[in-house]
Amino acid sequence: MKDLQIETIINQNRKPIPEADQLGFGQYFTDHMFLMDYTEGQGWHDPRIVPYQPLQLDPSCMVFHYAQTVFEGMKAYLTKDEEVLLFRPDQNFKRLNNSNDRLCIPHIDEEFALEALKQLIKLDRDWIPSAPGTSLYIRPFIISTEPHLGVHPSHNYLFIIILSPVGSYYKEGLNPVKIAVEKNYVRTVVGGTGTAKTGGNYASSLKAQEESGKVGYSQVLWLDGRENKYIEEVGSMNIFFKVNGEVITPALNGSILAGITRDSIIQLLKHWNVPVTERKISMDEVIQAYRDGLLEEAFGTGTAAVISPIGEFFYQDEKMVVNNGEIGKLSKELYDTLTGIQNGIKQDPFGWSVKL
Ligand SMILES: *Cc1c(COP(=O)(O)O)cnc(C)c1O
Repeated sequence: MKDLQIETIINQNRKPIPEADQLGFGQYFTDHMFLMDYTEGQGWHDPRIVPYQPLQLDPSCMVFHYAQTVFEGMKAYLTKDEEVLLFRPDQNFKRLNNSNDRLCIPHIDEEFALEALKQLIKLDRDWIPSAPGTSLYIRPFIISTEPHLGVHPSHNYLFIIILSPVGSYYKEGLNPVKIAVEKNYVRTVVGGTGTAKTGGNYASSLKAQEESGKVGYSQVLWLDGRENKYIEEVGSMNIFFKVNGEVITPALNGSILAGITRDSIIQLLKHWNVPVTERKISMDEVIQAYRDGLLEEAFGTGTAAVISPIGEFFYQDEKMVVNNGEIGKLSKELYDTLTGIQNGIKQDPFGWSVKL
């Protein structure tokens, strides 16, 4: 698989590359994309890089009806020496295969996928923005393409990688977000699809997001789907609390998505000898810590924002303001260090960065 040739068709109609301050998130796409087909009995075949363009799909394709699909999100960074760095891309393709397992989608060859990604980025290298905080967002995804309305795992799939230059997540500095603890809806339950990165999880989370948005909260904090008691995630990020000097994050319990940023933060904290614990943590415990004056910091982690400080929780008609609504010292250090490693400004003792 690794030696498979990737046929390439160069785009002759290059698009203008947007200015850094206009990028936003996921609005612009580069000149090329990677595609590969899967056919039962034949496996993955015909890997190719072609001009970015709409897909032609039969309306009966299974993905449109039963949502058998998975995706990933990662970033490439241009360093000040004009080198291109990927951050732990092996972990993303490994997780894509974990998601594939859950959704009954055949595995991809992880090494080959990384090789294909590198070739694609090389071709669209000029699209990688260089302004501080900007990067090239990478979206690998797989859709089920068998034209059939029966409910069963598809016999055909399409693996696609698209690239999007993205702006700085924090235009006016790292502003803490306000979050509402969700009590009516759940994101997932143990045994559901919470550990897979799949579109359905996002579709089902929109309603809660919309309702909390109406009352001024930009994200929701998800509690566990069984007891509505234990903390799971915030929006589409993992969550961390600093309580009395100890950093706590919910343990991977079978319904939480295993974030690569989450794992990197845990490794960084251990490297710094900051106490960090992965365990069950209830909303009641967080409230008690807040009342005792021990809730020092809270933040979400994910590829898009890296670290998103939390300035306020809203729960049972009560507002809890964390660290005066300002970013905490540890949150800031983690943000600076992790983005520094990703951008090649800081030393990378973990070997996380992969050169193109
Ligand atoms: C992608 C994702 C995350 C964050 O994962 P990273 O690998 O850190 O980007 C967290 N929660 C959910 C639900 C996600 O889909």
